[in-house]
Amino acid sequence: RNSAEKFEFQAEVSRLMDIIINSLYSNRDIFLRELISNASDALDKIRFLALTDKEILGEGDNAKLEILMKLDKEKKVLSIRDRGIGMTKEDLIKNLGTIAKSGTSAFVEKMQTGGDLNLIGQFGVGFYSVYLVADYVEVISKHNDDKQYVWESKADGAFAISEDTWNEPLGRGTEIRLHLREEGGEYLQEDKLKELVKKYSEFINFPIYLWASKEVDVEVPADEDESGEEEETSESSTSEDEETGEEDADKKPKTKTVKETTYEWEVLNDVKAIWLRSPKEVTDEEYTKFYHSIAKDFSDEKPLAWSHFNAEGDVEFKAVLFVPPKAPQDLYESYYNSKSNLKLYVRRVFISDEFDELLPKYLSFLKGLVDSDTLPLNVSREMLQQHNSLKTIKKKLIRKALDMIRKIADEDPDESDNKDKTDTEKASENDEKKGQYAKFWNEFGKSIKLGIIEDAANRNRLAKLLRFESTKSGSKLASLDQYISRMKPGQKDIFYITGSSKEQLEKSPFLERLTKKNYEVIFFTDPVDEYLMQYLMDYEDKKFQDVSKEGLKLGKESKFKDLKESFKELTNWWKDALASENVDSVKISNRLDDSPCVVVTSKYGWSANMERIMQAQTL
Ligand code: ADP
Ligand code: MG
Repeated sequence: RNSAEKFEFQAEVSRLMDIIINSLYSNRDIFLRELISNASDALDKIRFLALTDKEILGEGDNAKLEILMKLDKEKKVLSIRDRGIGMTKEDLIKNLGTIAKSGTSAFVEKMQTGGDLNLIGQFGVGFYSVYLVADYVEVISKHNDDKQYVWESKADGAFAISEDTWNEPLGRGTEIRLHLREEGGEYLQEDKLKELVKKYSEFINFPIYLWASKEVDVEVPADEDESGEEEETSESSTSEDEETGEEDADKKPKTKTVKETTYEWEVLNDVKAIWLRSPKEVTDEEYTKFYHSIAKDFSDEKPLAWSHFNAEGDVEFKAVLFVPPKAPQDLYESYYNSKSNLKLYVRRVFISDEFDELLPKYLSFLKGLVDSDTLPLNVSREMLQQHNSLKTIKKKLIRKALDMIRKIADEDPDESDNKDKTDTEKASENDEKKGQYAKFWNEFGKSIKLGIIEDAANRNRLAKLLRFESTKSGSKLASLDQYISRMKPGQKDIFYITGSSKEQLEKSPFLERLTKKNYEVIFFTDPVDEYLMQYLMDYEDKKFQDVSKEGLKLGKESKFKDLKESFKELTNWWKDALASENVDSVKISNRLDDSPCVVVTSKYGWSANMERIMQAQTL
């Protein structure tokens, strides 16, 4: 078109499109859920704006918040239309081509090292998946603040924008037309589209319609020679009465029934939100699918756990929380900038998925949603963020989240030694749950440790979730409850040692006496453990004692006092001799067996391991 303005794709976007176009990726189906997800986002946006300005929705069909799909088999075009917020000319230029999102290069990098194209939505570049199936794409869009425009591209490095003077006016919203590639023929099958919506987009909260063909029976005048014989045979096959056929043969029907194809909008999804249903009625499979859709995680894996509940009282809300099967790679790299992954709804209306007030940082790995009946609807996001009920919601969410995590352990047969007696009773021999807690710990254990550091109110609950290796843990991980159950009579403290690995620590002279006397010592080998132990002072009335620091007490102390007395002269001599070496004191030790002496840090100083960590950080 002559009037079209031409633009070049931003370089990274162009590379991304090349990768998609040339991809041999077999699961091309994913483009549809990406388009439907975008349509749903656009509908969420207009619905949110309409909360404070009803006019914005307009009238008639325009006010219907829906998604419509149509097929043109002859022209090989699949179109997906929404009545969402739409895009202005500027939006089209920026969003679909010239401004690369932070995820663009990350995704390109992933794809070059054999990453999974399925994850495209998580990187914020899902739109471009259209080029898996189409070689030419038109995006027609109408935003309330602008005229109707067409964006078009053959993915050849450039796109064009024109004011739309030839298509039917959309009123408001966006229509994406996919001119399907030769191989894309299957997406012209209605059944295929129905199947894909069921599979990937079942939990979209707006109705998705397909302009679907339907065979209907119509009555037409009967021909004289064919006197409705077909109907007769089909009836008599279900009839046990042999006489019927004879009687019918006398009557000559004046009309007959033939099949004719008509079209109508057929709704493909069930828009009743899953979180409004009773948890008893929702199947595991539905929760899994819901997780995939809400987390944009379309891997084959199931979430590790979920919790669906209804909070009542002063603050009412419904929530569904999920523990993902895997931690995102950058979970701890960007920990302090990470955003909560919960979606906030107020009375079914989507408000935001960037609400940091809902969960503390250490639980930001959870996915899910909260739908509140108590929060006000027609206020700005900023005002909502200040609302008092949020504190209550947060508190309850944390409780439920920690319960959910504890349940992973409770139901894991591998964990049966790690539990109190009451929990052991609950332990099921369910194979599917076997090893799940170790998996959780491996992915998210660090979050639990950061929780112990950050969340004093829930410290004890979080400490229960802690797992570690110890001198007695063998090949499994141990818990604090398990440690306590194995404590020796008269043992008052929980012993631990910090270092870089279990293998290194096992050789430590600090352990000699302790292991010989059969005391259990916890190995803390993660750098974060040093910080952790500055906050975790006690558990179930037992104090933690670093065995490499002074203050180690083992059982009876009376005999030990005599020893100290008789060696006083020697220890004093040593102290003077080492005065220039920054040695505080020299004492008789109760922790050694074979080694003659050991250097110990003072109770309040850094452990040797901490010195090592700090040194690594400053270098
Ligand atoms: P994401 O959805 O993660 O933002 P996409 O690549 O899927 O990334 O979409 C890019 C952007 O294009 C969206 O953020 C949105 O601004 C815009 N967009 C895409 N589809 C639509 C649509 N149907 N209606 C309005 N805006 C859209
Ligand atoms: Mg998207």
